[in-house]
Amino acid sequence: MSTTRRGFLAAAGTAAAGDMAQAGDKAHDHGHDHQAVPSDPALRVKALESLLVEKGLVDRAALDALVDTYEHKVGPRNGARVVARAWADPAFKQRLLENGTAAIAELGYSGEQGADIRVVENTPKVHNLIVCTLCSCYPWPVLGLPPVWYKSAPYRSRAVIDPRGVLREFGTELAADVEVRVWDSTAEERYLVLPERPAGTEGWSEDGLAALVTRDSMVGVARVPPPSGGKP
Ligand code: FE
Repeated sequence: MSTTRRGFLAAAGTAAAGDMAQAGDKAHDHGHDHQAVPSDPALRVKALESLLVEKGLVDRAALDALVDTYEHKVGPRNGARVVARAWADPAFKQRLLENGTAAIAELGYSGEQGADIRVVENTPKVHNLIVCTLCSCYPWPVLGLPPVWYKSAPYRSRAVIDPRGVLREFGTELAADVEVRVWDSTAEERYLVLPERPAGTEGWSEDGLAALVTRDSMVGVARVPPPSGGKP
């Protein structure tokens, strides 16, 4: 992260604190969209898309195909496979933490919005949380498209000013001695959290492990829950 970016973050934190005071209790829940009408950026995007289509500069079918690919074919299941491999194979885990992009490409995942992916590891003493304070940068090849809450102004500002508060709203309570590290994604560098492997999964297959891994755990807003049933 550049010093300019850090400077921005400090300023954004102060400004966001003001915003949040006004937003009040609206920021309590991430399970739904907070706005009844489309947000200003959403309307601008819609207007821009209509214009580009009208002028013949983009093909609506091509746009739909691109969105469909990242919504349905590429998605958090890719990231889950990466996490499961790291849990099962210590050598892969080491490569993943040293050079995320290269290790992820070993599993065949690369491309748009994933040129430089850094993987950060959760441990009993460190919890990592991913945000993009400026917009919605996200590692598409392993997580697909970002959820609405990830792109929302409350998440983007509060993940920086009050990460523990945000985690609590996602149901993630951290002990006081756990260090929280917040990573600000950019167009150049995106992040993926390697969550902690839950207890009770000793000897599990990679498929079984991958099925436990959730999108939220790879963004860092949740942990991977321990298995409820028996070994798959
Ligand atoms: Fe962004």
